[in-house]
Amino acid sequence: MTKVCILGATGSIGRQALEVCREMGYSVEGVTANSDYEGLAAICKEYKPRFAAIADRDKSEKFKDLVQGTVTFCGSEGLLECIRKSNADITVNGIVGSAGILPTIESMKISKRVALANKESLVAAGKLIMKTAVERGVELIPVDSEHSAIFQCLEGNRNNEIDEIYLTASGGPFREFSSEQLKGVTREMALEHPNWVMGSKITIDSATMMNKGLEVIEARWLFDVDYRKIKVLVHPQSIVHSMVGFQDGSIIAQLGAPDMRVPIQYSLTYPKRMCNNFRKLDIYKLGELNFQAPDMKIFRCLGLAYEAGMEGNSMPCVMNAANEEAVRAFLSGYITFTDIPVIIEKVMDMHNPVEADSIEMILEQDRLARRRTHKIIKEDLN
Ligand code: NDP
Repeated sequence: MTKVCILGATGSIGRQALEVCREMGYSVEGVTANSDYEGLAAICKEYKPRFAAIADRDKSEKFKDLVQGTVTFCGSEGLLECIRKSNADITVNGIVGSAGILPTIESMKISKRVALANKESLVAAGKLIMKTAVERGVELIPVDSEHSAIFQCLEGNRNNEIDEIYLTASGGPFREFSSEQLKGVTREMALEHPNWVMGSKITIDSATMMNKGLEVIEARWLFDVDYRKIKVLVHPQSIVHSMVGFQDGSIIAQLGAPDMRVPIQYSLTYPKRMCNNFRKLDIYKLGELNFQAPDMKIFRCLGLAYEAGMEGNSMPCVMNAANEEAVRAFLSGYITFTDIPVIIEKVMDMHNPVEADSIEMILEQDRLARRRTHKIIKEDLN
């Protein structure tokens, strides 16, 4: 039986991965969360994993009190120990943010396959992660629906040069807003995504289009393509999950209902496609599918991500850290929606990129960028 360890099990990706494991009859060996000890305890009761870890040490005692028959760990080191002890065939990384970087690297030492949803790992540490995957012979299978689509479009085409990757984007709830209208966006408005139900950080990233920017950098590393070949296409229906254009003029696309369980399942069962009872796309009822170029002036975050990616070295890591802190500040009510790109750009302007090929260097640059972001937010507030 395939053994799976699910990181970020209490989150949107984590819970859907648990559901898919149950459907596929896979054994859940390990589960982790940050602070939702009650959610994680309920998961332990239902799935009976052998190991579980809660990253927030303050919740450790309460968590232990609720769990029986599962060995528990706590803290960031406990989370890594849970990965090691689970010794799973596949580790799913559904942690949000750069907190997922070390777990991605640890998972690659243990599992033959890492199903990666945590895009921030590749944004901040793409070069190191891809190198480690090659050295260790680990399969890094994308979970993000767009990257899963590109991965599928490349099946049977690995030796053909990619002409262009078309990364589709729903455009988020403010697709048709002007710069002026964006100034009035509240937290509640930004948390309403038209097509997907996701965690709060990625929902805000989708609204600013930083999510698409992070995905551009993710695609650069996963598929080893130049940024000039990665194009973003706004596609409000979220039916075409992405496309790849080849040199003969053919474009191959992957379509499906907007349901994250499908790419999660594929990351677990690849190269097999297994039956499931998820809602299928009714092709006769689709109607129109629209595609248009994004407005990078209005959605400045997308432009910033291209600039950071092309600059390379530590710049994407710094941009990612500044974005995480700016989104946190927006969700806490300290800054406005349109402050987010302004703050990220200021942090990027202050940064002199350095080579970022060791984990120590990446984590140091991440910390430095967060300190600078806090300082800018504080100064702007006064
Ligand atoms: P959620 O916020 O729903 O879940 C995040 C998970 O990570 C939770 O289990 C949370 O634990 C855990 N976590 C948070 N902080 C830490 C930390 N410091 N240390 C350890 N664990 C932590 O996020 P999503 O599931 O929406 O997203 C997860 C990742 O997948 C992101 O990188 C996102 O970009 C990507 N993704 C998500 C999609 C989606 O549909 N949701 C689609 C494609 C990609 P706790 O519950 O205790 O806070």
